[in-house]
Amino acid sequence: MKDRLERIVILTGAGISAESGVATFRGPGGLWEGHRVEDVATPEAFRHDPALVQRFYDLRRAALGTVAPNPAHMALARLDAEWPGELLLVTQNVDDLHERAGSRRLLHMHGALKSAWCLACDGRFPHAGPLAGWPPCPGCGARGRLRPDIVWFGEMPYHMPRIHDALLMADLFVSIGTSGNVYPAAGFVDIARESGARTLELNLDPSMTSDRFAESRLGPAGSLVPEFVEDLLRRR
Ligand code: NAD
Ligand code: ZN
Repeated sequence: MKDRLERIVILTGAGISAESGVATFRGPGGLWEGHRVEDVATPEAFRHDPALVQRFYDLRRAALGTVAPNPAHMALARLDAEWPGELLLVTQNVDDLHERAGSRRLLHMHGALKSAWCLACDGRFPHAGPLAGWPPCPGCGARGRLRPDIVWFGEMPYHMPRIHDALLMADLFVSIGTSGNVYPAAGFVDIARESGARTLELNLDPSMTSDRFAESRLGPAGSLVPEFVEDLLRRR
């Protein structure tokens, strides 16, 4: 294992936003806000019932206005501001709580609620309002072609070459609030471990991938993450 501690990669999932009041993916009954994942988070669902999918994401986007970053997001933003070495925060979340907390070295590997993707011109645009009324594309003016800029099941996550490079170079890999069900993110721990990084998981419950981490700490992100950041900055 590497002795130096300069390069850090952090992966976050829905669990980090749970204490802000954003529902996780597989809540009670395996449903996401009352919907089967296949009915709202696949390209097939969008082809089959685009209005339902647009409404679903419109509600999730609108709900962002009622939630705020919690101490876990704030602690990671502090780490970003104060860590002198390389740092990359990769989130599977489509909410905007990391950026609102102040994180800058951040990649949204599954896209973002506040972005729209035009299927006519392939442009991606910041977007705050609803899409169900099929507003025109701000780039090319096409109507009926803007979809949520979200990576659905069966689609290719964003920024993979950059993430892969960072994992190969990492001295420490930390996974926070993710169930380890969704690939390729669930495989990041293996890439980091095989290239000699220390690996740490912070999660409420044991995840599908817990046994692949050198260390797992169980508890709510709102207290585990600030403790972890405090400790890291003290030992710097
Ligand atoms: P998941 O819902 O599958 O798993 C969430 C994990 O977080 C669980 O293991 C759970 O034990 C843990 N958790 C719950 N509350 C926690 C807390 N307070 N502190 C720490 N951990 C806690 O989510 P996932 O692994 O991120 O994968 C699901 C997919 O869902 C992702 O692709 C993501 O795009 C999407 N999603 C995103 C959001 C969001 O943007 N906030 C919300 C729901 C789903
Ligand atoms: Zn367009």
